Amino acid sequence: MAFEFDFNHAFKWCAIYISKGLRIVRLHGIWPDGRCTCGDPECRVGGSKQRNCGKHPVGLEWGDRWARSEDDLLAWCDGVPFNVGVVLGKEGGVIDNEDDSPEATAFRESLGLHELITPSWTSGKSTHQLTRWHDSLEKCGGVQKPGGLECRLGAGGRQIQSVLPPSWHWSGVQYRWKPDLSLDEVEVADTPRTLLVQICNAAEAGGGGNSGGHKYHGPLVFREVHDGEGRHGALLMWAWNKIVNDRFPLAPERRAVLTQEILDANEKYIKPQKTRDEALQIINSCFEHYRKKQEAGWSPTPTDITQEAIESETVKLEETINPEEAVAVVGLEAHGLEPYQVGEIRAYRVGSWSIEMIKGDPVEIVLVVPQWKPTPCGGRVNMTLDTFRSAAKVASTVFNATHRVILDGDSKKWVATWKGMDASKKTGGVSIPGIMEQLMARKKREHDIQVGSASKRYAELAGYILKAFRRATTPKDEERPEPNESGRPCWVAPDELWFQWGKVWEEISSAHDVAVGEKNKIRNRLLEIMHAKDLIHKRHRFPSGRLEYVVFTREWVAALELLASGDDGRPVKGEIDLVFPKTENHSPSTVHDTEAVVA
Ligand SMILES: [Zn+2]
Repeated sequence: MAFEFDFNHAFKWCAIYISKGLRIVRLHGIWPDGRCTCGDPECRVGGSKQRNCGKHPVGLEWGDRWARSEDDLLAWCDGVPFNVGVVLGKEGGVIDNEDDSPEATAFRESLGLHELITPSWTSGKSTHQLTRWHDSLEKCGGVQKPGGLECRLGAGGRQIQSVLPPSWHWSGVQYRWKPDLSLDEVEVADTPRTLLVQICNAAEAGGGGNSGGHKYHGPLVFREVHDGEGRHGALLMWAWNKIVNDRFPLAPERRAVLTQEILDANEKYIKPQKTRDEALQIINSCFEHYRKKQEAGWSPTPTDITQEAIESETVKLEETINPEEAVAVVGLEAHGLEPYQVGEIRAYRVGSWSIEMIKGDPVEIVLVVPQWKPTPCGGRVNMTLDTFRSAAKVASTVFNATHRVILDGDSKKWVATWKGMDASKKTGGVSIPGIMEQLMARKKREHDIQVGSASKRYAELAGYILKAFRRATTPKDEERPEPNESGRPCWVAPDELWFQWGKVWEEISSAHDVAVGEKNKIRNRLLEIMHAKDLIHKRHRFPSGRLEYVVFTREWVAALELLASGDDGRPVKGEIDLVFPKTENHSPSTVHDTEAVVA
């Protein structure tokens, strides 16, 4: 049975390890129900910290609290299950290498390591080999992954351990010695020179020490990457890997999900994690790279998702985007703002940005950015004054309108850019005006739009509705006419056009940007013209239940046409003729019941 703990069995093995000179530490165990003994509710089989479950040492500074004697081991008999780990590094005297991917297995074989006679154990699919520490590894950091082979070193004073048999893995598998290669049968071998060379090379390429190199040579299964192992490169590769493997990474929904997933990976695997800003910079540069490639006619193929391709693509990506300036490049300069330097601060002038004010009730602001013309907003983003005053709200409104441009609303940089900065040492003693303030100052009165001319927008919206009406169907069964269950418009009677208000707008919104509140404005304008308090609602009963509809008579349709004609009396969006096609809808339901809703 999985997670069955036998103290005597664990004790026997630990005593052997100690007799061989290994430093054995107590790790948290796994209760029979899959919880880690650390007590963290997420550290359990099926929890968000599953990968840690039963793998981490009890307490802090555990590197010094290894069991010196069998008496120390006996003290571990307290009714709580535990796993056991071996301390690695110079002090521990051993290192561990693990093949957790087919690439790593092939790499190990290419070095001839698979024939090495040294204590070897399995943890599920992968095999570990324990070999002796060598002083050439001193500057190689905690972990290196030459060829994807995870070499756990514990160099440079880093506390690192590996889990040994008879521990339980969270997957329900017990760590086991390989036949004839258990620690009581064979001696720990010296680490072969070939492997030492590979580890040292990987450490150098990955920027061992603090050079923060960008070359991550790990497999594309994300594991912990520590300081000195190329955290930046690792996250970059992971981000590109996620994005290039997605079917529609630039769709706003997917972009949001991917961004969050990569941020989560940063939190979980990068030690210490990159700041949110740094991580977003990496992620956004990948999206930008993807978009540019796509615009140049590229579309991903299976060759783009191999590890080599991803590695070489991230190198290219880094060449085109200076990592220090990635936020600026993908976030601001590229969108028309003009950078300038004030003290230590990179500040921005409005550049090509401008605003128009719609003096209605409430007042609205249109942020005009020519660089955003190719996006769904067409270069014009409507927002309320309240939104305009908040950097975070502007950022999210811009994202919703463009489906593309991410102004990171949480980042201090964007807030400072939008709202400005007070004078400080950093700014060389001068205050920096925000984009918001500059836009207001530059706003030209002639660009203000009086409410009256907003009717152009009403004309546009009314035109969209009429377009939807032109596709209205007629009932299949004239004897028993009924509306479309889908909510799409249907002339249920010669003077009754039945439709669901929400459904019609849903379809309009899929092709056009409709700002929050615009549906209501159109509705209110229609009510004004018709001198009505509310639209006419009716219900129809289908076998599946009752649905509510809005019913337009020819008069209502005429009111809509009036709106669509706009101020200048010309119809907008081409001819809107109301010759409705005779499209039949579905067969009628067995129950026919039409009733008016009492308003
Ligand atoms: Zn735990």
